[in-house]
Amino acid sequence: MFTTELANIYSKKPYLNEIIPYDEIAPQIGQFLLQEVRLGANNLNPYRFSFNFGYSPKDVINLFIAFSANDGPLVRLYRYECSDCGELNILTDNELKHFKCYECGSPGDLEKKMFLENVKVLFEIKEPYLKEVKRRLKDQASSKVKQNAHPEYLGEADFNLGEVIESVNSFNKPLDDDFIDLTNEIASRLSQGLY
Ligand SMILES: [Zn+2]
Repeated sequence: MFTTELANIYSKKPYLNEIIPYDEIAPQIGQFLLQEVRLGANNLNPYRFSFNFGYSPKDVINLFIAFSANDGPLVRLYRYECSDCGELNILTDNELKHFKCYECGSPGDLEKKMFLENVKVLFEIKEPYLKEVKRRLKDQASSKVKQNAHPEYLGEADFNLGEVIESVNSFNKPLDDDFIDLTNEIASRLSQGLY
């Protein structure tokens, strides 16, 4: 189960409790998963989660970075529209590190500071957990649970990579090593391209 995976992550990184305690977030994220998947989402938006439960977006971003570690229940993806051909690229950490546009092979504007604003960070629900939530929704549907949509705050902007890096850097303990590697790689590219 999704919350079992969260419990594993919290036990490996107990300092996550300093951000939001496990006992507080576990039931909320369970509820949020059902709500979002019912609305047709397959990813979790940190802004929507913080809005729903009254947290600072920064805290939620930091936890989602930890939840999207390799063995976590979320997958971190990056959305980037190629600056040359306009193709929408959806990338993993590794693909972003060695970015080449799917469509035209352009290396994009990775050396420019704008790049950090142009890359949006997405948190997808891993397939087995998505299936589990859909199964639970089916069970609920048969017991006629009222639709709980909040269309007035659907579709906010996703956070960009610059904001996420800033947020992760503001927490003084490691959230995910792969994300730190990515941040270092991008910082070194930027320092080559910036003047
Ligand atoms: Zn392109």
